[in-house]
Amino acid sequence: MELRNYFSAKRLDFPIIANAQVHGKKLIYLDSAATSHKPKSVIEAMQTFYLHDYATVHRTIYSMTEQATAAYEAVRSQIKRHFQLSPSKEVIFTRGTTDALNLVASSLSTLLLKPGDEVILSAMEHHSNIVPWQMACERLGAKLRVIPFDAAGVLDLESYRKFLQGGRAKIVAVAHMANSTGTIHPIREMANLAHEYGAYLVVDGAQSAAHLSFSLEELKADFYCFSSHKLYGPTGVGCLIADRGLLERMPPYQGGGDMIRQVTFEKTTYNDPPLKFEAGTPMIAEVIGLGAAFSYLEQIDLKKLEQWENHLLQQATEGLKELPGLRILGEAPKKGPILTFIVEGVHPLDLATLLDLDGIAVRSGHLCAQPTLAAFGTPYACRASFSLYNTEEEISAFLASLQKTLKKLK
Ligand code: PLP
Repeated sequence: MELRNYFSAKRLDFPIIANAQVHGKKLIYLDSAATSHKPKSVIEAMQTFYLHDYATVHRTIYSMTEQATAAYEAVRSQIKRHFQLSPSKEVIFTRGTTDALNLVASSLSTLLLKPGDEVILSAMEHHSNIVPWQMACERLGAKLRVIPFDAAGVLDLESYRKFLQGGRAKIVAVAHMANSTGTIHPIREMANLAHEYGAYLVVDGAQSAAHLSFSLEELKADFYCFSSHKLYGPTGVGCLIADRGLLERMPPYQGGGDMIRQVTFEKTTYNDPPLKFEAGTPMIAEVIGLGAAFSYLEQIDLKKLEQWENHLLQQATEGLKELPGLRILGEAPKKGPILTFIVEGVHPLDLATLLDLDGIAVRSGHLCAQPTLAAFGTPYACRASFSLYNTEEEISAFLASLQKTLKKLK
């Protein structure tokens, strides 16, 4: 009850969630795993910056730019505090998780990988955590190894250990929370194992950053990436968090302004991290918006948030299990608020189209995880995902609409 009141008040902070209508029905937004909606405070922070404070950062010394630089760098410090980073860790602003993963896959691979080396991924990755590694392996003559998972969506850690014991793996890249099944992988255990065999662990935190409370130091990941737009912030910005010493050894990812110390036609010397990896004018207003998103998150008790989202997940899971012919993909004991399903004889795109007529937004298609869905034996699925602004009434309406729709389609 207390949680219900707490989060139903929060809902009013999100203008689209509180007001939007679709096909004359109230919007029920169940696609936060794709992107979350934004609270007013984030929208207003960006608007205020553009209306009153806009200037470039880092390049020059007039007052407006010094204030903009201070505000931009304050967000970096805020993120360090939020994830309780040790002073040896650095935060690099990227365009998002995809950009951060491409940065690591390109630069760390150049530093570490030789022909015959291996990169270990799980079979439950988003395409963003597959394709950049495939490209790096092709470029450097290295090989991908893929950790399988069982019917519940739990990774086979014995296979993982065997890959590491082979002695050729230099990098492991795995999602913290899978976008397809919601499985929360045992990152700390995987990090300890990777380190035991001299490999680095890269964690795709796109799905975990907005939902779980954790200290990055305790997670023991060497690299952690996330996107602002999934944690109530604007699109176009995200972060890569890594050890400063390692970043110093890694070659730059892109060349341009800000990432240099001195340029001549004979030779360029590079700036220190983080700027070494922030070539060009960055996403200044977006970083300000991301700061406001973290401020918003920091007012919320993340333990309560986990409880609420888990409560909604349980309600939806129990409801789905009552629908004949429906199969949930992934029922790991540790799961985030993601529910992916297929229904025998019904195309997921038809289902999502008809749910939309009731104002209900769910994801349908390959979920940017074609290999994962292939392992479950389907090319497509529907996914409902929940966030702090969802309510029990919305879950009930979703279940009722699904039941009605399936009667129509079957
Ligand atoms: N990794 C996971 C697990 C995701 O869920 C997503 C987005 O859906 C991404 C990576 C890519 O994130 P972005 O599109 O914000 O770069």
